[in-house]
Amino acid sequence: MSPASGRWKPDPMKQQETRFWHPFANMAEVAGHEFTVTRAKGVHLWDDAGRRHLDASASLWCANVGHGRPEIAAAVHAQLLELDAYMTFGDYTNPQAEELCRRLAELAPVPGARVFLGSGGGDAIEMAAKLARQYWALEGMPRRQHVLGRVGGYHGTHGFGTSIGGIEANRAAFGPLVAATGQVDRDDLGALERRILELGPDSVAAFVCEPVLGAGGVRLPEPGYIEGAAALCAEYGVLFVVDSVICAFGRLGTWFGIERWDGVEPDMITFAKGVSNGALPLGGTIVSERVAEPFWEGEGSMFRHGQTYSGHSACCVAALANIEVLEQENLIPRGQELEGDLHDALRPLADHPLIAEVRAGLGLLAAVELDAGALAREPGLALRLQRAVRERCVLVRPLPTALAISPPLTIEREQLQEIADAIDDAVREVAHDIPARSVTG
Ligand code: PLP
Repeated sequence: MSPASGRWKPDPMKQQETRFWHPFANMAEVAGHEFTVTRAKGVHLWDDAGRRHLDASASLWCANVGHGRPEIAAAVHAQLLELDAYMTFGDYTNPQAEELCRRLAELAPVPGARVFLGSGGGDAIEMAAKLARQYWALEGMPRRQHVLGRVGGYHGTHGFGTSIGGIEANRAAFGPLVAATGQVDRDDLGALERRILELGPDSVAAFVCEPVLGAGGVRLPEPGYIEGAAALCAEYGVLFVVDSVICAFGRLGTWFGIERWDGVEPDMITFAKGVSNGALPLGGTIVSERVAEPFWEGEGSMFRHGQTYSGHSACCVAALANIEVLEQENLIPRGQELEGDLHDALRPLADHPLIAEVRAGLGLLAAVELDAGALAREPGLALRLQRAVRERCVLVRPLPTALAISPPLTIEREQLQEIADAIDDAVREVAHDIPARSVTG
């Protein structure tokens, strides 16, 4: 970094021998073959060869208002000069954390909400799971400890998130995980009720559920599932935790995503990503009045949980500036306004033998699911296709059996077609040497 210019310059020699261990990567394959992103503006990114790419995944479902927002940069810059950061343990606070929590509590579909802040989605899930257990202990029901997720669910990579996450490969390598955790089948209310009854309703603390299951394949819930799951939780006294880390801040066309289902009242909502547009690390948990009560009322009780960066003032102003952009440009509804257009653009891809189905139509996110036969012959097909799409200067997210699409809310309708065209072209190229369902059955 040159302090005078403030611009960091890469050293080409050092770049050849990377020491950066990437998340979710096999470094034996990645080292020396990195894709280096150097600049981002709006819905576009530039690589180190100067090529411009359309960001069809908004980084990792984050950059809802588009990249490089001067409003966010200016607010963070000013904040770092005024008060960079000071911890908020115990009785310490700062005006930015106070204001952000007030705004989020106003916007959340949770009356009397309190807001706990951390650095990302995994932090938020860890907090929610621990809070649920302590809540029940304070309520005189310490046996209520089971925390359940869903098959296919993704809740980050911390202890609880790994344990309740429903993508088997993400759990397999780590030995025993957090006790009294598990998963139930997705979209199966009967399975949820049976598991609650098997465990005994008075031993289940919380059920954690993404409104639209994201990293597990952009799986839209069956009609009635979300309302039904909330009702079952209410019936058996289980806390209903909505993981809106992906679905909030306009992705589903509302502030927290869950408003798309009438009458659902979450006990907690976890959020991250779009809260700060991904510009600085931030996440948190909205807690209902009822769950907060034994901690906040009467003698109260200490929640022995939190991170050094909980309530970090620069991260909080990034979120406040981002919320202002979302409001001023009326971007929140776009997740719903564009959901049909995204679906329309991608739908024809399903006619290709290499594509099993296109899942879209609820929010500005979608998955292009690959043909099972083709995947059996080439398990790395999603990665290969993603690279072929990238060759066409469109960045999509490879999932184990699908490509995920979740562009910024600021994307134009024609650019949705650009995404579909790039995938179409890449699929045709790759199909030349992959037998598809017409061949494999
Ligand atoms: N929950 C959901 C639904 C997510 O999609 C993610 C990340 O993709 C997380 C939690 C974890 O968030 P983070 O990566 O910020 O820890």
